[in-house]
Amino acid sequence: MSQTPDRHPIVRITDFDGTRDAARPLDRVENVRAAGAAFRQRMLRGKPVRYYRSMELVRVPYPAKFAYLNGFGTLPPFIHLCNRLFVVQFDSSEGLKTLLVSPSDWEHQRATPFFKRLDESMGAFARLGEALVFRKTATVLERLAEIGLAPEDVDYITYDHLHTQNVTRWLGAHGTAPIFPNAKLLVMRAEWESALSLIPWQNQWYCPGGIDGVPMERVILLDHDVMLGEGVALIRTKGHTEGNHSIVVHTPDGLKVTSENGVSLDAYVPALSKIPGVAEFARVTGAEVILNGNTLEYGIDQYISMVQEKAIAGPNPRDERLPNIAPSSESAGYWLFPRTAPTFSVGDLCYGSLAKRSALKAAA
Ligand SMILES: [Zn+2]
Repeated sequence: MSQTPDRHPIVRITDFDGTRDAARPLDRVENVRAAGAAFRQRMLRGKPVRYYRSMELVRVPYPAKFAYLNGFGTLPPFIHLCNRLFVVQFDSSEGLKTLLVSPSDWEHQRATPFFKRLDESMGAFARLGEALVFRKTATVLERLAEIGLAPEDVDYITYDHLHTQNVTRWLGAHGTAPIFPNAKLLVMRAEWESALSLIPWQNQWYCPGGIDGVPMERVILLDHDVMLGEGVALIRTKGHTEGNHSIVVHTPDGLKVTSENGVSLDAYVPALSKIPGVAEFARVTGAEVILNGNTLEYGIDQYISMVQEKAIAGPNPRDERLPNIAPSSESAGYWLFPRTAPTFSVGDLCYGSLAKRSALKAAA
């Protein structure tokens, strides 16, 4: 079934079709590597986006054993994971579009079973524990106000996957008014269907009711890799979840690839990592990536997807040994979790200047 729509300025990409059909896993790895390199060259010939900015929202504790699956050595039980919001503006056949990547409504995600259990396990110390392990930097709406973007200017929102997400305030649900009145959610059909019917242990990471009651006219279900317009592609990178995808954005610093398949650049170049256990695991096994695996829905696919992401991203202009990847949730060092700081950090990024359409309209 195909519903990648024609009525939107969204164009199907076929570069990766068939790359995962080979019977042998290592053949699939080499197929996505070759297709990724070719796609990269093709996309770099196009126009970059007008604006790209990533901003910290919140830092949350996350189990180290999932963050660096099988390679976490002697780390403390948790790392600190920094969730970022990405704001992207790009040209399309329907004019300028504004996309929010990973707008986590973190104030309304606490019902996610993993976080709920963490709260409960702190018992009487919950308030102190929360103050210690959660760092609340800014909400999505505060970040948008800071850069001067009006909620009605948002055309699309997307998440590399729906773990912990609650989109009901953004899009409206059960008849409530949406905060982003013009935004549509871009999501892979596999991820949407998955979130509607979770098996136990998968359900530990999805926010109950996180997509319930959202009107379907606010949701664009995708069945393929797509270009959204000039300089933005959504590429299926199954593995971390069934319907995972990566966001590829053409910036003045090359193609930035975003997902949560890896929690830091260390995960993509484990041989260079100084995090205890990571380089050793890579050396012993020959693994070229370390998975962020909390639900392990499709581990082999995730490995292949991370190789694919590296091939699309190419070298990082700041350090050619690293891939040009900007994780949507990036591990950050924290005194409470010693020796978990990544060897290489991406941090917040900013390119270009934001166009404020509502301000332009008001002036006209
Ligand atoms: Zn996840």
